Amino acid sequence: MNEKTWYRRIPKTDVLLADERIQNMIKKQGKAVVMDAIHMELAEFRRLVKEKKEETLLEQRLEFLNDHIEKRVMEAKRADMCPVINGTGTILHTNLGRAPLSKKHMEHILTIASGYSNLEYNLEQGKRGERYAHFESLLCKLTGAEAAMAVNNNAASVLLILSTLAFKGEVITSRGELVEIGGHFRIPDVMEQGGAVLCEVGTTNKTRLDDFERAINEQTRGILKVHTSNYRIVGFTESVSLEELVSLGEKYGLPVIEDLGSGVFINLEKYGLSHEPTVQESVRAGADVVCFSGDKLLGGPQAGIIVGKKKYIEQMKKNPLTRAIRIDKFTAAALEQVLLEYLSEEQALKNIPVLRMITTPREKLEKKAADLQEMLYSCELAADFKIVSCDSQIGGGALPLERIPSVAVAIFPHFISADQLETRMRALPVPVIPRIADDRVLLDMRTIEEGSFSVIASQFKQLRVLEAQQKTEEKTAGADI
Ligand SMILES: *Cc1c(COP(=O)(O)O)cnc(C)c1O
Repeated sequence: MNEKTWYRRIPKTDVLLADERIQNMIKKQGKAVVMDAIHMELAEFRRLVKEKKEETLLEQRLEFLNDHIEKRVMEAKRADMCPVINGTGTILHTNLGRAPLSKKHMEHILTIASGYSNLEYNLEQGKRGERYAHFESLLCKLTGAEAAMAVNNNAASVLLILSTLAFKGEVITSRGELVEIGGHFRIPDVMEQGGAVLCEVGTTNKTRLDDFERAINEQTRGILKVHTSNYRIVGFTESVSLEELVSLGEKYGLPVIEDLGSGVFINLEKYGLSHEPTVQESVRAGADVVCFSGDKLLGGPQAGIIVGKKKYIEQMKKNPLTRAIRIDKFTAAALEQVLLEYLSEEQALKNIPVLRMITTPREKLEKKAADLQEMLYSCELAADFKIVSCDSQIGGGALPLERIPSVAVAIFPHFISADQLETRMRALPVPVIPRIADDRVLLDMRTIEEGSFSVIASQFKQLRVLEAQQKTEEKTAGADI
């Protein structure tokens, strides 16, 4: 058959549209999606004809035209956001969604969010309440602060604090603490957005109390200390402690603000990490306002948590900006759940995934690695699997120098390269993101739940991830794994 004859055999769009199956698809999925699918499928068919593909293949394509159209419709309707398996060993991986929440907490959030709730309703008094009411007293109990609130994220906290306390005034900050968090979040820029003028003092490596004192003038509205969460200045250094800044603030009647970045409630030294300043320490040292992230080391939902003196928190709650950056019901519900766990450190370590991952002992990781290794070997895949030592990271711009000794399963494919394997793993229906180190593909056991092992193994087997030639068609075919 020549090209023209093939083209003539392509059904007209109105004929396709009259088909009962297509009609049903339109009813269920909407006309625009189905039309797109028809156009794409017909264009694909013309391409196959042009490339002079085998007649049997073309014949089949025409015969099963509706199947192909339906497959395209389903693909278009499939959510793009999907779960991935984090084999990188980076616990707070910002690109992979930072802190995972526990299933138990999510069940509660599901009940809250799928119906009505008392988000802003005081059930006792039968009138309007505050969305912070569900966790404010918990935050006060846990940190020792007088008052608390939460906004969209910690970048928003810094913005709100400065715009409330220092609008059109100056804020003094050490040159050693002008952090860039990433994603264009730079402390000096946020200050500008908040309408505050940055008054930098000291040098990159050394700032002294008297640098701050000399900078104070009538325009000064506050002193800001920023925890250098994602870098360290080492060597010939000097910085001013929070306590010293607090006495200076008291002397001149200026609020002292601390951006802690990560924000932890638990002393991580007990678990073999280096000291990360806790929120309680900052409150105890007398900081007037302290802010931190909800989804870094705290292990909760994305949020910016602000705790401190009641008079300042009240001002912030009234700032119109608060309305623009407020948290929604998911976040309020999740925060309350996570904070409730912190009432007992033991429960927190057990029930908050981030803390559980950080504190998983090596023996447990070795056992996990052995289980996964055995499962993978039982699938008879074209690779060797070795258990190796590696280092996990906290990530999310917290404890940047910290490496937590961990255990990984290293995959050595027989026929393909490490890079090829990594690309294929990313393309799986449930993508698996490994760490590549020294040309090896590693699955770090610290960030992979046991429940994911069978998902990894069955995808590897069914989708022939380790074969020399992987069938490309199978990605969509196996989509329901
Ligand atoms: C991470 C971080 C922020 C930003 O917090 P998000 O919750 O990501 O908005 C601000 N300041 C410091 C010091 C941080 O480490």
